[in-house]
Amino acid sequence: MAVGTLATVKSLDPVDLRELGAQMILSNAYHLHLRPGDELIRDFGGLHSFMGWNGPILTDSGGFQVFSLEGLRTVSEDGVEFRSHIDGSKHVFTPESVMRIERNLGADVIMQFDHVIPGQSEESVARDASERSLRWLARCMAEIERLQASGGPPPTTTIADRPSLPGTTFPLPAPSHPQALFPIVQGGIHPSLRAEAARAIRDLGDWPGFGIGGLSVGETKPDMYRILEVVDGELPRDRPRYLMGVGFPEDLVEGVRRGVDLFDCVAPTRMGRNGAAFTRDGRLNIKRTEFRTDPRPLDSECDCATCRRFTRAYIRHLVAADEILGLRLLSLHNVHFLVQLMRDARVAIRAGTLDAWSRDWLTRYHTRPTSNV
Ligand SMILES: [Zn+2]
Repeated sequence: MAVGTLATVKSLDPVDLRELGAQMILSNAYHLHLRPGDELIRDFGGLHSFMGWNGPILTDSGGFQVFSLEGLRTVSEDGVEFRSHIDGSKHVFTPESVMRIERNLGADVIMQFDHVIPGQSEESVARDASERSLRWLARCMAEIERLQASGGPPPTTTIADRPSLPGTTFPLPAPSHPQALFPIVQGGIHPSLRAEAARAIRDLGDWPGFGIGGLSVGETKPDMYRILEVVDGELPRDRPRYLMGVGFPEDLVEGVRRGVDLFDCVAPTRMGRNGAAFTRDGRLNIKRTEFRTDPRPLDSECDCATCRRFTRAYIRHLVAADEILGLRLLSLHNVHFLVQLMRDARVAIRAGTLDAWSRDWLTRYHTRPTSNV
């Protein structure tokens, strides 16, 4: 999934994403609730209509963001009280309020509100958060069922002061399609807790898919792989598994090897802002002096719109001059790179050659030439 936290995949428009072959976008309930407001988005017909993307969208619940606000939040069994990172205003997220926000946004897949803990938390802390997340999951499920049965939340805002859309009746009909609620398997780096959480979640309902949360937050790679293997053994094989917040190329390949289907990460566009590009031979920093006169594309085997048309020398010039096109060309390439990587993985899975393909891919990626950093 391409990451569009604020209802935009930075510097790319939905037409670009379609051309790249991106299938799904991730957005974020916490950020959109604070700005521009989920009720406003609902009045524009939901997120798909608001941002002009007619493909699938997944919204994260904001648990990760709210629990990251160290010192600005209070946690209770009911939910989390926190202050906005934008203006310091006070807000309360409960499983029920988050479901109403995600309902207003109208994504196809919505994540439960969960209790997120720091990566290396000890077992008692991880158990406490995991068990609370399970109780919150039951509340999320009850609330979303209630909202779907009642055709969505009633409008509570006044819309008189909002501009009308040319040629349409305002407000647009709020999204009313059913939404797939994904539970999130927590449990830190403790294999037995993860297995328990996965089983307890399965006992609670017949889920359309599963999130795996709380990884890639400071634990070692072997710890992450071990947890993925434990969870892989516990979750049904015919439902998608989403490894949350993970999305560097090597992590995607290692995740696919361990049964993961969905990923997201801000890396492709965030790295672009730092002048970094993914290549089959590892990461490349276009700001390096040696690229000043380099006539080659970013990646000689890439057929993206950037690599087909532009040299490393030109992109380096744009980035050095802080030109907006530099970021855009790098983002186009990086998102394309990950989309193509997952295409290749699917081909290998169908051909029954995933093991050999992934080992070769990882060997080449990690054996980077000296020009790549
Ligand atoms: Zn490219």
